[in-house]
Amino acid sequence: MSAELLAGLDEGQRLAVQAPSGPVCVLAGAGTGKTRTITHRIARLVATGAHPVSEILAVTFTTRAAGEMRSRLRGLGVPGAQARTFHSAALKQLRYFWPRSVGGPLWPVLEQKMRLVAMASRRVGAGTDTATLRDLAGEIEWAKASLVAPDDYVAAAGRHHRDTPVAAELAARVFAGYEELKRESEQLDFDDLLLHTCAVLEDDEDVAREFRARYRCFVVDEYQDVTPLQQRLLDAWLGGRDQLTVVGDANQTIYSFAGASPTYLLGFASRYPEATVVKLERDYRSTPQVVTVANQVIAGAQGRAARLRLRLTAALPPGPPVRYTEHPDEPTEARAVAEQAAALIAGGMPASEIAVLYRINAQSEAYEQSMAAAGVPYVVRGGERFFARPEVRQAMVAVRRAAAPADAPGAEPVDLVTAVREVLVPVGLTAEPPPAGSLRERWDNLLALVSLAEEVAAAVPGAGLADLAAELEQRAEAQHAPTVDGVTLASLHAAKGLEWDAVFLVGLSEGTLPIQHAETPDEIEEERRLLYVGVTRARTRLAVSWSLSRSEGGRRTRRRSRFLTGIAPESSVPSRAARSGRCRVCGGPLTDATQAKLGRCEQCPSNADPDLVDALRDWRRRRSGEAGVPAYVVFSDATLLAIAERRPADD
Ligand code: ATP
Ligand code: MG
Repeated sequence: MSAELLAGLDEGQRLAVQAPSGPVCVLAGAGTGKTRTITHRIARLVATGAHPVSEILAVTFTTRAAGEMRSRLRGLGVPGAQARTFHSAALKQLRYFWPRSVGGPLWPVLEQKMRLVAMASRRVGAGTDTATLRDLAGEIEWAKASLVAPDDYVAAAGRHHRDTPVAAELAARVFAGYEELKRESEQLDFDDLLLHTCAVLEDDEDVAREFRARYRCFVVDEYQDVTPLQQRLLDAWLGGRDQLTVVGDANQTIYSFAGASPTYLLGFASRYPEATVVKLERDYRSTPQVVTVANQVIAGAQGRAARLRLRLTAALPPGPPVRYTEHPDEPTEARAVAEQAAALIAGGMPASEIAVLYRINAQSEAYEQSMAAAGVPYVVRGGERFFARPEVRQAMVAVRRAAAPADAPGAEPVDLVTAVREVLVPVGLTAEPPPAGSLRERWDNLLALVSLAEEVAAAVPGAGLADLAAELEQRAEAQHAPTVDGVTLASLHAAKGLEWDAVFLVGLSEGTLPIQHAETPDEIEEERRLLYVGVTRARTRLAVSWSLSRSEGGRRTRRRSRFLTGIAPESSVPSRAARSGRCRVCGGPLTDATQAKLGRCEQCPSNADPDLVDALRDWRRRRSGEAGVPAYVVFSDATLLAIAERRPADD
């Protein structure tokens, strides 16, 4: 098995996978196989007996990425590996240690954070409008993630922000009030989960000893986005040991607004001088067309980020060109995206291989509407609320009951998928799907559980209902819904680490990407990195679009994003792009008349259907041989390609 785990890895990846149990750091761009490297490393550590799987804890940042890591590990024959978000890992540990260390059951996680912020804000007269509250909540989150206490807030904010001292003073009072209200009501917010876990491990020697005997190997994906608080937790877990593997890409730091910093990633080698440090450059995810755009986005980086530039080299063969489209308004843009998604699905692409990525969650509404209108199934983000649905809860209870040995029927071994189908019949899994509506939604969710059972059965030969119940429990805790066959609608932040065959990157307008409130050069650079994250999610098809106004028929109030300069053609009409002298695939300069006519460099691939090109050539040959055929029919190769590429043939 351990030899198999090395096949399908390049030299750099292999180096990191084979490194002995100790500090390892992989610094590399998007799609270069960082996540693949750590999953193979975990599988190899287990296969070689260096660590039993129960000793390894892998952490990442989004629930979906954690789920993705678990499913890749299952695929490598390591079921039951712990891959969690920092928060879900801390929650699990705190649940276990809290009664002993603090006493009583663990306080619940605060559900209405904004209400508490509003109460605290009202008390000090700091304003309770939505924008103010959002800013205040953001400041509190930043301070806690940066290990800044209310008393130190003013000084720390002065160092990091542009806030006036008065505003900072007020924010500090809201912060202190919020902490007090939370404590009084015996609730915890997400950051408290991490802070308390740190405190327990740092202060309670018994707990620390027990924890460290259990976990001996740590792996962190997306390490560029670690906050000081998360790093402190990691240090508390390690307790001076160095069995730590980290992977990251400084160009994908997209949480610095919340206190994240690539400093830890970039400083890893100095902190652990004996670390194995690997750099990867070959991109295995995306076509050269997509990689070119990713390189262009990063090439535009300014300031500190500019020094971190990593050039990616594509390993995959060419695919279709990147599409750039301008729309008069957002509803039109959303309709066009839904229609294109529908066309891809009609052409045989699974809906789950398509994603629409946007800057802010509020953009999802337009796309939900357009997808529904076009009859395209979709899932918003990872479907976080999946496990809150009554039918899913009922199904989990049913699976758990059926898995209990006392209730087990006969012990005729039945395969997991058949067994789970039977168990779910009383919950509402009929043989045929009910017509569209709420019953159908219920049915779809139950079917998602059957698909999950198929996944578990494929990964673990002989898996039973108990294995499924355990998987469901882990997923429910991590809020990681099973994949539903639908187009993913997700924010760029939520898309980190994931990949799809086709990606629609929407809303590339000034005010949306970069977002309105990004003002300082650092904030603009973070927006640029978000775009880089978005571009690099696509395997083969990338469509970038923007609109000139928010509402239908609205005035043209918005401009396309500054980040598109030098990347997208100057206008969405390709023939104009040719006149602008830039290639509409790679954005590079066009150097001769043929290239100008094509609107792209000759080596940049065409999106024309080769059969159509052949048919046109054939037709041209036949027509040009006919007597009396006017000259305009005998068009040049460049014009022929323009027709085949369905560009306006005004050249
Ligand atoms: P990101 O920065 O976006 O998280 P990553 O560096 O973690 O990207 P992976 O997700 O691990 O990249 O890999 C990207 C894709 O390339 C995956 O589909 C993976 O299976 C594939 N891949 C990685 N390495 C190889 C390889 N050596 N051979 C073939 N495919 C590979
Ligand atoms: Mg990754």
